[in-house]
Formats: sequence, structure tokens, C-alpha cells
Amino acid sequence: MELIDTHAHLTFDELAADLPAVLQRSSEAGVTQWITIGTDPENNRKAAALAQRHENMFAAVGFHPHYAKDITEADIQAMRQLAREEKVVAIGEVGLDFHYNFSEQDAQSRIFREQLTLAADLGLPVVVHCRNAFDEVVAILDAFAGALRHVVFHCYSGTAEQVRMLLDRGWYISFTGIVTFKKSDEARAAALQTPLERMMIETDCPYISPEPVRNTRPCEPAMLIHTARKIAELHNMALADFAEAVTRTSRAFFNLPA
Ligand SMILES: [Zn+2]
Repeated sequence: MELIDTHAHLTFDELAADLPAVLQRSSEAGVTQWITIGTDPENNRKAAALAQRHENMFAAVGFHPHYAKDITEADIQAMRQLAREEKVVAIGEVGLDFHYNFSEQDAQSRIFREQLTLAADLGLPVVVHCRNAFDEVVAILDAFAGALRHVVFHCYSGTAEQVRMLLDRGWYISFTGIVTFKKSDEARAAALQTPLERMMIETDCPYISPEPVRNTRPCEPAMLIHTARKIAELHNMALADFAEAVTRTSRAFFNLPA
């Protein structure tokens, strides 16, 4: 069995300190490829460099909406250069976070749009972070209709009805360990409604350890297996068949080698 952790922050201190062991445990659990996701200018450089050093690791580069207020034109140009590197397979994570509002909403929207322009120019898929801003994110993405190669909503926490809106637009949905939590009936309903040709899974590590290891910190890619098992069960499938389907979807989305 092979799974891909499509959204991990392997450059973050919680994991970077012990990375060889983290990756070893992951491979042993069947989670054999990783996409490490960038968040700010410095972190993007680290993500691209780390992916360069590990055959089965790939990187996404992007400015998280939290940092939008600090992003300069020079940062955007530097990101454009990084995004051309061979192991950089996506733009992300980008989007809007109107829950924390660490950056003004106008700045978040502007930086999001600039990065979508870049993704469209380079033909790269986009990894979207959306928190308390569903309508606004969809409206901005709609303005790029047809120009973006692929779009995924990561760490999905919306309703089953919102799933419909995303699927209708041809976009993808990625689920974390939240689907394993006792109270997450809504996330499970969303996962049940998402066909596997449009579904990916992720840990978003070092955050969100799934049940039954929810109290183990940090979360790490090996824990993806629990999320996979839960969604396979929802879809009434054998774990191996589920893994094959979401791995196929993920490889096609990010254009990864087998
Ligand atoms: Zn993330």
C-alpha cells in the first residue's frame, strides 16, 4: 500500500529536528511520498531545498494569508523563481483566513490574487487555505476560471453543501485527521460526498493528530493511515483500494512520478 501525505509542514521545527526518523516511520506505515508546504518567504526556500534533498519529497511554495501584510513585490518575484524548480509541484498554501485576520482582509485578497496569477502563468496546481471566508475564496477563484490547472481546498472543514459547489467547479477536496474526531459528523458527511477521483488526504502535520493518537504530538506523516482507514470505512471500501484511488488522484493532481 502506498499513500501520499499531500500537505505536511516538514520544515517546521517540531518535525525538522528528527526528520530522518519521521520519514522512516512514515515509509514503514505505507506513507511513501510527501508534499511539504511553504508558508512565508524564508519557509518557501527551506521547503524547496528540503524537497531537493529527498527523492520522494516535493514542495509547494506560497504565502499563507497570515503573512500577506508583509509580502513585497520582491518576495513575489523570488517565489516565481522558486516555483520553477523541478521539485516544486504547486503553489500553496494560499487563500484567505478571516478567522484569525492576522493580515488585513484587503491585503489577504490582493496577495491571494497575485499568487493565482503566478500559478496560472506557470501552469501549477493551487493548494488553498480557506477559513471563515468560503464565499470570498470561491469568488476570487471564479475570476480565474479556466486559467488554473487544478485547485484543492486543503484541511476541508465546510459543509456537504459547500462540497457540491467545489465539485461542480471541478475542484478537489483534501481531508485531515479531523474526520476521525468524535464530533466531526459534518466533515465525515463531506468526505462521504466527495468521490475519490476528487479527494486527497493529508496530515497538515505538525498539527491535527488523528484519533486514536490525537494526544500524541507532534502529528507526523505516519499518522495519515488513521485518516485513510476512517474514510475508507465511510466509503465502505478496503483500505488498500481506497489508498490506490486517492494516491492515483494525488499523483495526477500534482503530476508526481509513481
Ligand atoms: Zn498547512
